[in-house]
Amino acid sequence: MYAARCPECGRPGPVQLAAPDRFACGACGYRGAPPGQASAQLREAASILTRTDARRRQLSTFQRRLLTSDLFGTLVYLAACAAVLLPFAGCFALSAFTPGGPVDWAALLMCATPVLVVLTFGASGLLFLRSRLARVRAQLAAFPPPTPGAPAACHVCGGPLAATSDAAFVRCAFCRADNLVSPRVLAALGDARARVLEDFTGEVGRRSAIARQAFRSALRGLGLGALVAAPLACCLGASVFSVMNNIETEPYEDAEYALVDAPAGRCVTRVRGLVGGNVSLVTGDWARGASVTTRRPRAEVPVFRAAALAGMRVRHEGREARVARITGTGGTGENRLHLEGAPRAVPVQDVCLADGAPSPAPPIPVRHRR
Ligand SMILES: [Zn+2]
Ligand SMILES: [Zn+2]
Repeated sequence: MYAARCPECGRPGPVQLAAPDRFACGACGYRGAPPGQASAQLREAASILTRTDARRRQLSTFQRRLLTSDLFGTLVYLAACAAVLLPFAGCFALSAFTPGGPVDWAALLMCATPVLVVLTFGASGLLFLRSRLARVRAQLAAFPPPTPGAPAACHVCGGPLAATSDAAFVRCAFCRADNLVSPRVLAALGDARARVLEDFTGEVGRRSAIARQAFRSALRGLGLGALVAAPLACCLGASVFSVMNNIETEPYEDAEYALVDAPAGRCVTRVRGLVGGNVSLVTGDWARGASVTTRRPRAEVPVFRAAALAGMRVRHEGREARVARITGTGGTGENRLHLEGAPRAVPVQDVCLADGAPSPAPPIPVRHRR
């Protein structure tokens, strides 16, 4: 409740924007105009409210539910987290449940890392959301009744609010602001001390769009958290992958490869199992500009293992070299060829056979798109 000091006895008495000329002192019985500048200030404050869009003091159905039900807020928050996690969980499921060939642990971990990050940030985000909503509740709560049974006062204009039996919100008849009046919240806010104001205009101006501002600042923190967590999750995932990808291991014996008849020659593809007995042929560097049919029934694809390429002459980026050594890469299920004289190892599916080299398996004829 807004108050001004009685011109007779100096005790605070209630004032409201809806009736700027009325002042009644409960202590000494003075009735008349409010003291000093209060009248003019109340009028100026009222005109600020008429100039401000009343919708900025009002709550949507969604916002009302957020403020009245902790469960609703939690569910909305969990749904948002689930939406963020969906692509990562999908990628995790895809790499975990693809049949055939060695498990790609690096990809699995890459997908699992963001999930862990979101879960960690997610828990603190929920606590943060709850504390912020509690703050919004306090900001939008009506001034509690000064005496039991008296009407509560609007938190924006100080006007009396219509009594309700069970509604959590009441819209002020004067300034159209939504007031939270649930007994639980009003009880938590404690006593109904009158707010004696020096500056009604300033205070009402600050409160003229309070519903919108309160929600904005409550959600801003969550948005910032998400802005930090999302790139952090992706970076962590990517670094896990890159670290694992750079670890040299024994070659993966069960990784399968097939030769295709490509414009670049007899070139290597990685054979990956698909659900339903088909395989996809994954092409490497050599396929730039060439297009290969990637989906075949498994029975039609003669496969070979990386070990068959040991000592063979292959072509990579226009250069022919002998395969000196074959290694696996940490956890990814991929093999790499160390070519004589080459600075870096290359993925097996990046090379084609040198002319005249024997085929480890018959090449699959593929149709090339023009
Ligand atoms: Zn008085
Ligand atoms: Zn009001």
